[in-house]
Amino acid sequence: MKKILVTGGAGFIGSHLCEKLLNQGNEVICLDNFFTGSKSNVIHLLNNPYFELVRHDVTMPYFIEVDEIYNLACPASPVHYQFNPIKTIKTSVMGAVNMLGLAKRIKAKILQASTSEVYGDPKIHPQTEDYWGNVNPIGARSCYDEGKRCAESLFVNYHKQNGVKIKIIRIFNTYGPRMLPNDGRVISNFIVQALKNEPISVYGDGSQTRSFQYIDDLIEGMIRMMDTPDNITGPINIGNPNEFSIIDLAQKIIKLTNSKSEIKFYPLPEDDPIQRKPGINLAQKHLNNWTPKYDLEQGLLKTIEYFKTIIK
Ligand code: NAD
Ligand code: UDP
Repeated sequence: MKKILVTGGAGFIGSHLCEKLLNQGNEVICLDNFFTGSKSNVIHLLNNPYFELVRHDVTMPYFIEVDEIYNLACPASPVHYQFNPIKTIKTSVMGAVNMLGLAKRIKAKILQASTSEVYGDPKIHPQTEDYWGNVNPIGARSCYDEGKRCAESLFVNYHKQNGVKIKIIRIFNTYGPRMLPNDGRVISNFIVQALKNEPISVYGDGSQTRSFQYIDDLIEGMIRMMDTPDNITGPINIGNPNEFSIIDLAQKIIKLTNSKSEIKFYPLPEDDPIQRKPGINLAQKHLNNWTPKYDLEQGLLKTIEYFKTIIK
């Protein structure tokens, strides 16, 4: 049995990760400040004697003895990370310093939940890990993008300078049950709007693309990454390479929900990336032939079922 700390563990991805790690027979400490996460995401785990929920902010140091740390604490949706941009930077940067310091002291392995946003509005397609990206350092998304880029740099340098065992994954757009209905991300927005027969809010002309990964595929990839030999540090992309335009996504969700919603167009937000698709050769090579199992329709149907249970 391993003892594992998951920061941001009460969020969308974190709660699924805690659940899987417990099911595998580990002891899990879930740390969260409940900014975008909530107790309700992990309430079903609270009776498990091997699960512990701690209210704490990663911008402050935290001390505990564990074998592994998954560092997920950070709001992920543009609406939430732009709500208090300075706090978002502090969470990424000071959170990384605090968790890396802890990992160094207790000799724990530590995994960073980085993001496809480090590639910014990419000029190469698909995005492979050797691409340095195209990020506006002073734009609306920079608090998140540059915070995550700085965190990657901190991870790499704690590894080089202090021998900390690090793992960096770059997560591409992930969706599934327990996303917040008011999260602002495209899949939750469209499903909620479709279920309520309200207009579907497409930003821009909807020709921008994303590649959507179902949560279970990500969790499998994350845990496989943590279990790789010490010389595999990443960064490694984890995402589903099937690419869709946002307008196609809107039409698919209308169809799958039998909705009467119509599509309504709004201005494209500042610096919204035009295209995004992960190159996943490294993941397939190093993560024991990991490959996404869910296609978009399968994942959407599961997610729609979830939202039906919470939308009145
Ligand atoms: P989320 O907002 O549901 O989860 C983030 C969690 O971190 C929440 O529970 C929140 O309360 C917590 N948190 C935020 N600031 C904190 C702080 N200062 N101290 C302690 N806890 C804090 O988002 P998510 O989609 O579950 O994302 C989890 C991680 O994965 C994030 O680091 C995000 O950047 C990364 N990621 C997610 C996606 C995606 O598509 N969902 C894509 C790329 C990267
Ligand atoms: N988007 C949209 N309508 C919405 C929410 C998002 O058209 O209600 C678009 C957004 O402009 C972007 C894409 O969908 O091009 C993905 O947005 P999301 O916020 O989910 O993730 P990110 O931009 O961080 O990839």
